[in-house]
Order: sequence, then C-alpha cells, then structure tokens
Amino acid sequence: MFKENQPRFETQEKDTYKTMFLAQFKQLARDVTIAGLIAIGGISAYENYFSQVSKSKASSELSAADLIELKQNVEYILDEHPKEVISLFELREDIIEERNSEPPAFKGFEDSEIGKDLPQELWNEVNYPKNSIDRTTDEVEFVTTGLKADESYNLQNDEASGMTFYEKSKIILAKSSSTEGLSDFKEIADTYDATFAHEWGHKNDWFGQENLSTVERLEFFAEVSRAFDREGAVLKNGYVNRINNPDKKLEKFYKVVEWWAELTQAYMMFPENFEKGCPEEFQLVDKWVKKLDPNFDPVESVAKRAAIKAKYAK
Ligand SMILES: [Zn+2]
Repeated sequence: MFKENQPRFETQEKDTYKTMFLAQFKQLARDVTIAGLIAIGGISAYENYFSQVSKSKASSELSAADLIELKQNVEYILDEHPKEVISLFELREDIIEERNSEPPAFKGFEDSEIGKDLPQELWNEVNYPKNSIDRTTDEVEFVTTGLKADESYNLQNDEASGMTFYEKSKIILAKSSSTEGLSDFKEIADTYDATFAHEWGHKNDWFGQENLSTVERLEFFAEVSRAFDREGAVLKNGYVNRINNPDKKLEKFYKVVEWWAELTQAYMMFPENFEKGCPEEFQLVDKWVKKLDPNFDPVESVAKRAAIKAKYAK
C-alpha cells in the first residue's frame, strides 16, 4: 500500500521525498504518536547488561589521531549525557566470543493476527543485515498482555507495542492499539514489521551492535547524538519528543536512543524515500549498518519482505 503512488525518484525534489517519507512513516507508525514503540528498560537495563561483561583487552593500538578523536567523543558525551552513560561503554570483546549464532526462537505468534510462521520468515538474516539478528537475539516473543513503556520516559500513554531486552537477548512484540481497527492483513503485517525494525535498531545500536570496538561504539553514539541536534533532523517531533524526564541529560540520552531506533525503522521500511528526502539521516544509518554487512541493500529487503507478506495475505 505504500508503493503504488510513489513517483519516480529522478523527477522529484528532495523536499517532495521528505514530505512523502514523513507521510509514509506517520501512516504506518500510528503507534509513534499513539502508543510509542518502546523500549529498553532504561539505564538499569543497560547496567544489568553490561555487568555481565568481563574486563577485556584494552584498545592499545590506536594512532595519535584516533586518540584525539576518542578524547573529543568522550568529552562530548560527558557534556551532553548523564556521566553514568560512559560507564556503559565497557570493553566487552570477550563476551562476544561466547554468544551463539543460531537464529532466534519465535514464540507466541500463533496468538497474533499474523500467525505463527510469518515472523520467522520475515525477521532473519536473509532479509536483514548479516550479524544483526542471530548473534544479538535469542528469542522473539509475542505477548497478548499489555506492555508498558519504561517509567523513565514519562509518556502520557505508556502502552508499548514492542520492547528490547539486552540482558535477556530478547525482543518482545505485543498486542497493542497500533493494530486495532485494521482489517487488511498487509497493513497489520506492516505494522508488526515496523515494530520489529525499531526493536532491531535497539539491538544494533552503539551498545547492542556486536562487531564494534569500544572506540567505535563511542564514535557511533557521539555521531548519532550530534546528528540528533542538527537543525531540521527528521523524526524528532513524534514519539521521541514525548519522552520526558526531570533530569534533562537523561531525557536527552533516552531521546537519542529512541531516535536511532526510529531511524532504523525508517531505513528498513521506506529506504527509497528516506534516502532521497532525508539523506543525512539515511546515510547515518547506512554507514553503521554497512559495518555489519557491507552488501546489505534495504530496498531489496523491502521487496523481499513485501513478497513474503503478500504470500501470507492470500
Ligand atoms: Zn524503542
């Protein structure tokens, strides 16, 4: 339903694409304004996650230029975010070795509107970047009971349609108001597909992405945080902007975390208009996704996933 009315890219201006992209994103992600696509369980979840991490090899082979850049990134993060955040960037190369690389188990989807088999056919490393699911996620579970966003977000409507647990290596999707009133199978499937893409983004952020050195993680986080502050940056005014915390540095941290997940959702759902209309944000996601899988093509992924959804819609 999102493809039919798209004009050819070469005849369109950037602003037109941006307008089309934002309309697409808003239409699909009703729950960005209604329910919120949450969450990470807050700082405490990160602490639990990283407490599992053993001390590891130091990054001892940096050049002088790398060290200067590292210092700048650390100073920037300490200025803009709660100082506790920096402790979450523990060196953790050792634990990566211990992760399994089996596809996740899918549980509970027989109770969802999209059925038991579609999720595992959609959300795997055939359709997603290599190294972005199997080694980050042991389980994807559907629950019919309501999920609540993290209290630290102080959302007025704290219903969540998805949640990522780092420490449990788990993603949960939930029955929520985001699919209420929808009868078209494809629309429902797109909604879950988008929620998964958002949660996948959390799994592959500067804490979750498993193939990066600590120095790269700090660069990744600082880069996304700086991009978040760019005037005219997209996807800051909906769900992200509703996050509220009396500690403004903590609020900024949560907003950047959620903004990244929103960008990854856009990248996986509407890559063409996202790229043409919002090249800065597209390239930011594309750069870090390509570190996982240099050959990944989000447009191809959308086409493959659309064909699978169409098959199940029959
Ligand atoms: Zn989120």
